[in-house]
Amino acid sequence: MDLIYRYDPFAPIETVHVETAESAMHELVSGNDRFVGIVQRMQQRTMGAAAGEPIIVPFSPLMMGLPLFKGALPQQSPFAAILGCSDARVPLEQIFDQSFNKLFVLRIAGNVLGAECLGSLHYAVTQLQDSLKLVGVLGHSKCGAVTAAVDAYLSVTEFADIASTYPLRSLLDQIQISVRGAARAIERQEGPGIRKSPDFRTLLVTASVYVNAAVTAHELRRELHLQGSGPEVVFGVYDLETLHVQGYPTVGGDHTSQPRMRPAPKDAHGLTTYADEVAKAVMAASRELDAESVG
Ligand SMILES: [Zn+2]
Repeated sequence: MDLIYRYDPFAPIETVHVETAESAMHELVSGNDRFVGIVQRMQQRTMGAAAGEPIIVPFSPLMMGLPLFKGALPQQSPFAAILGCSDARVPLEQIFDQSFNKLFVLRIAGNVLGAECLGSLHYAVTQLQDSLKLVGVLGHSKCGAVTAAVDAYLSVTEFADIASTYPLRSLLDQIQISVRGAARAIERQEGPGIRKSPDFRTLLVTASVYVNAAVTAHELRRELHLQGSGPEVVFGVYDLETLHVQGYPTVGGDHTSQPRMRPAPKDAHGLTTYADEVAKAVMAASRELDAESVG
């Protein structure tokens, strides 16, 4: 299988123009689809499938947001700002198949919204408003920061080590509200007895990742809309196994029937409703897995 980046100086240059929040979202989702498509084809090749036609990616400095001639200075013009996790497995440009100058990127463990983070996003939204049409938050499955926050929530004694490290504690404290929200949502679905289940920790980590992305998006939307209006804020979660960005936990491997990125909840009620939907999907996926292992 050949993946060819081809630069033809005489070919017409096709740059993507993103004029609205909707087209920015479309560009992110279709970029994730391109990324998934290429990786899936490589995986199939590894398993012995035929190499098939080469994938040819038209390529030029201008399409990459780089100067076409030596010495020219590109103007910063991202179409979206994305806040993601520092996890080395979650490089935002690659996941959304975007080149230089397309995304204004912030990465911090657990994709939490600190003051510096918010300052950077304020800068992007006010100074780059000609090009920037969308602000997004991306969580990811198996997030170490969220897992640590879940462990701190479930076992206060183990939390003692972390509690003595102020910066780390500050990070986990910010995720705690999401973990508590996810735990209550799972309890509303299943009853308080679910806490005794051996799977509860795993279920809670999965649900908390989604709720945490929603909570950050909600906070971000509130901060950016203080003056009454602001950019559209969306959120999603990157699944490390399927490589898909999705708005809900996957049930039965179906990635197509659900929104890929969702609008940030506007209020506490929206957050609770979303947490309930996530808890429902997490439990449904878990029951499906159980059924498969029994079958
Ligand atoms: Zn993470």
